[in-house]
Amino acid sequence: MSFDYDLFVIGGGSGGVRAARVAASTGAKVALAEEYRMGGTCVIRGCVPKKLMVYASGYPDVFDDAMQYGWDVTLGDFDWGHFRNKLHTELDRLEEVYRNLLNGSDVDIFDGRATLDDPHTVRIGDKTVKAKHILVATGGHPLRPDIPNAELGLVSNDIFLMEKLPKSVLIIGGGYIACEFACILHGLGVEVTQYYRGAQILRGFDDEARGLLADSMIQRGINLHVGTNIVEMAPASEEHGGPTPTASDASMGISAQDIASHSKSDTAEKAKGPIWVKSTNGTEKVFDHVLFATGRAPNTNGIGLEEAGVKVGRWGEVVVDDYSQTSAPSIYAIGDVTNRVQLTPVAIREGMAFVETVFKGNPTKPDHELIPSAVFTQPELGTVGMTEEEARDQEPIEVYCTSFKPMQQAFAGKSDRVLMKLIVAKQSRKVLGCHIVADHAGEMIQLAGIAVKMGATKEDFDRTVAVHPTMAEEIVTMKEPMRTA
Ligand code: NDP
Repeated sequence: MSFDYDLFVIGGGSGGVRAARVAASTGAKVALAEEYRMGGTCVIRGCVPKKLMVYASGYPDVFDDAMQYGWDVTLGDFDWGHFRNKLHTELDRLEEVYRNLLNGSDVDIFDGRATLDDPHTVRIGDKTVKAKHILVATGGHPLRPDIPNAELGLVSNDIFLMEKLPKSVLIIGGGYIACEFACILHGLGVEVTQYYRGAQILRGFDDEARGLLADSMIQRGINLHVGTNIVEMAPASEEHGGPTPTASDASMGISAQDIASHSKSDTAEKAKGPIWVKSTNGTEKVFDHVLFATGRAPNTNGIGLEEAGVKVGRWGEVVVDDYSQTSAPSIYAIGDVTNRVQLTPVAIREGMAFVETVFKGNPTKPDHELIPSAVFTQPELGTVGMTEEEARDQEPIEVYCTSFKPMQQAFAGKSDRVLMKLIVAKQSRKVLGCHIVADHAGEMIQLAGIAVKMGATKEDFDRTVAVHPTMAEEIVTMKEPMRTA
């Protein structure tokens, strides 16, 4: 069979773009199709715009601290319109960077939706091309719960497109996105209520870290209710204690122009406030917006996976082996669409391992062990390795833990506390896990992650001289275990 391309990548997110570029650098003839904006979730409607919002939301604290340190400053109002325009200019720039990187690598770009006709044939509009290998990197999309009127709620994609900031928002969920947006919106001056159905936010993270973070969020003024979920929602009427929505309420949401130019089909086209909500604890309240941060699902619908013989799993994910190969030998899949670890740097690693395997003759499994990550809340939560709960089920452990008021905030009269925690294997002395709740914990865990990944022991940490005065020095100065298990 003759092929138009050695590799056809479906999806222009971080994983797909990297795989396409690196494959092309081996001399392979490569094409990539993207139906929306180059850059994917991370760049266009995820990590990047979210982090810029994290920065924006942190300034009230900076001003507050500055005053405590003797500065005569006054915090004015936050201009969402100014920020939003600047944000979208930056996203346009980044999208162009991605496009230029592909062009510079001689990757042919197809701006359109690609579907599979068979294991080697890709259809883009009325054009079909044959490819020796196909890489599915179509990512995922946010989910709404299955309740009537759920389409009135926003999802994370929509936040970056809002015409104006709401006065109040109800966030549903207790994962990364829910907690991050609770802190961001609170920092920007929105009255935030968060309902999480479980007993504590951030299921799967270290219990002590979750507890401290939840306390910090509540202390900052986030109205967090655990063990609580939404049961009903509807447009608010006077009967619900809210005004009857009028045409002008649409401006609370997202303009039709934005939907056309910036969004995908999972964007809230009907989102309008105010919204009446009834919760599992019986309370009825009206919020300007409801934000669903209730998980994400792989983008596998309607792309011809069945026709191509690609097996799809229970959660709608593309099923792959250790080398990211699907049940159709010519088709591989990486990133969120495989529902392994939904993190950009992991998708990139999976893409690189795919190229190594298929185009460099060096079979390589992506390494999913000891992945550091951070939740960009205020304070941040950085984590690598096992939680105390996981580790103690595996083997005898020592837990080194300290919680203290950091110098900078203590001087400013704040009650914020920092948590540093090491989980150590009693026998091998290896540090199995490290958990940090602190400002800049994301930066700290990246570096601690190297030591943990290298298999550092507690004694290696102890041998490392402290950098004084820092918060992070506590990670090398914890002498006695807090407890053993
Ligand atoms: P998560 O899976 O982390 O969280 C989903 C949350 O929604 C959970 O708290 C879940 O509860 C709750 N939930 C699910 N279904 C319902 C429902 N029907 N009703 C009420 N609550 C519900 O997903 P996110 O959307 O927050 O994030 C998706 C992924 O994206 C993350 O897993 C992460 O890998 C990645 N991400 C990473 C970031 C980072 O690195 N900083 C930032 C943002 C996202 P329960 O716990 O009970 O299941």
